[in-house]
Amino acid sequence: MNLPRILIIEDDEAIGDAIVAIAKKNDLDPVHASDGRSGLTLCLEEHFDLVVLDIGLPIMDGWEVLERIRAHSTIPVLMLTALDGESDKVRALEAGADDYLTKPFGIRELGARLVALLRRSTRTPAQHPGADRFVDGSFEIDFSAHTVIQNGRVVAVTELEFQLLDVLVTNTGTTVLVEHLVDLLWDVPFPDAEEWLKFTVFRLRRKLGWTPGNSPLEAVRGEGYRYLRRH
Ligand code: CA
Repeated sequence: MNLPRILIIEDDEAIGDAIVAIAKKNDLDPVHASDGRSGLTLCLEEHFDLVVLDIGLPIMDGWEVLERIRAHSTIPVLMLTALDGESDKVRALEAGADDYLTKPFGIRELGARLVALLRRSTRTPAQHPGADRFVDGSFEIDFSAHTVIQNGRVVAVTELEFQLLDVLVTNTGTTVLVEHLVDLLWDVPFPDAEEWLKFTVFRLRRKLGWTPGNSPLEAVRGEGYRYLRRH
């Protein structure tokens, strides 16, 4: 059986080794490049299923590597961004990264994200019979264009956040259990999954400008989350 190949472009030796180890643990076949140029060359010359890309790299930085990868390929890219680098995250998504993780990150989280990203890239999109658009007042999801719109403005959400919204609005009014969400979003259970889900909801609400007292996305204590229509 061929294991999925993952290219890790990271100059920090300790972080690179940790990513290699977690990739192996998740049955991935890792290749490690420690500068931007050799990483880009590998990516363009060999077949990979996923790229983990650091921003600060010698010879060629992560932004240029991403730009050059995107000129040739739609391969899933997870970018490693700096702590509190909010503008880096937005820039990464806008530049075509599929997901990002903020340093310092938990290595188990990274493993789960890699597996989820691979799974998403090989899965066909969810079907929405009868409607390819969800509208609730000024909040809209365009499923076919894969975009989230709030007050007429496209909100940059990650693939993970999009999937979370997708399942909640598809089940509007119904509480979706935490276990089901974790299973859907990450596939593999990991110890911090519930916290990570909570954080994902928090980040999503913040992006959409939904305050806890005025959010259609509600936490149901001890059970899960639900979307309640406002219009
Ligand atoms: Ca670096």
